[in-house]
Amino acid sequence: MHTTRKIKVGNAFIGGGAPVTVQSMTNTRTSDTESTLGQINELKNAGCDIVRIAVCNSDDVDSCRKIIGRTDVPLVADIQFDYKLAVACSDIGFDKIRFNPGNIGSDENVKSLVHACKANGTPIRVGVNSGSLDKDILNKYGRTARALCVSALSHVKLLEKFGFYDTVISVKSSDVRLCVDAYRKLHEKCDYPLHLGITESGAKTAGIVKSSIGIGALLLDGIGDTIRVSLTGNPVEEVKAAKLILQSAGLRSGCEIVSCPTCSRCNINLSEIYDEVAKLLESVTVPLKVAVMGCVVNGPGEASDADLGVAGGLGKSVIFSHGRILKTVANENIITELKMLIDEAVKD
Ligand code: SF4
Repeated sequence: MHTTRKIKVGNAFIGGGAPVTVQSMTNTRTSDTESTLGQINELKNAGCDIVRIAVCNSDDVDSCRKIIGRTDVPLVADIQFDYKLAVACSDIGFDKIRFNPGNIGSDENVKSLVHACKANGTPIRVGVNSGSLDKDILNKYGRTARALCVSALSHVKLLEKFGFYDTVISVKSSDVRLCVDAYRKLHEKCDYPLHLGITESGAKTAGIVKSSIGIGALLLDGIGDTIRVSLTGNPVEEVKAAKLILQSAGLRSGCEIVSCPTCSRCNINLSEIYDEVAKLLESVTVPLKVAVMGCVVNGPGEASDADLGVAGGLGKSVIFSHGRILKTVANENIITELKMLIDEAVKD
């Protein structure tokens, strides 16, 4: 593994050993300034580090001009083919542009884009998807990891030709294995920071599982500088999933609930207690591990390993704090007791 180049995106950094950032994308109409700003704030409050916005026309640019300056979240403009829109987005103060320079058409146009981005200090993400590879590359390499890398690096080369190196790269696919192979290859070939994501991964559990496997495998290999979990639906769910992936990969601290799957030995209403604890931890910003275990078989072990824990018993349950038995409480008082202890732990 090697360290990647460090890129500044507003008040955040991507690569160069900086903590892996969480990204998401608005799905409001960009021209609807207030709704888009509202969603940016929701994403920020959920823990999103960088927010991307699709910019499709001059109305969108006008709307973004009003949004920039009303949020401190680094904003990325996602532009498909129109390099003039990309230049406009750099000029109005976007913190990063997602654009593939190979789509511009002429060297002169690439030069104009590079000139604007250099003058404004705007980095560019080159993002290639397996679903939209060039025909030439497809004919030569097929829909393969190599094709994704060749395509991404050809865009990057166009930028390098004009002395531009402030680049982040993504090589996304909805095929997890293909995607992971492509990122591994790319990591071997360059020192640009990598934006990880499994594209069009679906919704809810299916999407989260796909993203977790792909992004998680790479992160555990030490590959990846920023991540986006793509899920159909409210993008806040993407942020929640991304934060959990980083936490599970040991790259970010946060609250954790250890809970058993329950079985016939379970003595307490574990699902209800889990939901209540999850709700309480949503607003907790210090790392806290809470164990919720249904009985005394594995309960005491897990519960004593956490900051706080409960092991369910018949009528009464044992509450643990930092490995020691704190007290025994009636089962109907478990939630009240945990709430009090979580409040105390947060105060400390
Ligand atoms: S901790 Fe107890 S209740 Fe929970 S799954 Fe294990 S044996 Fe069953």
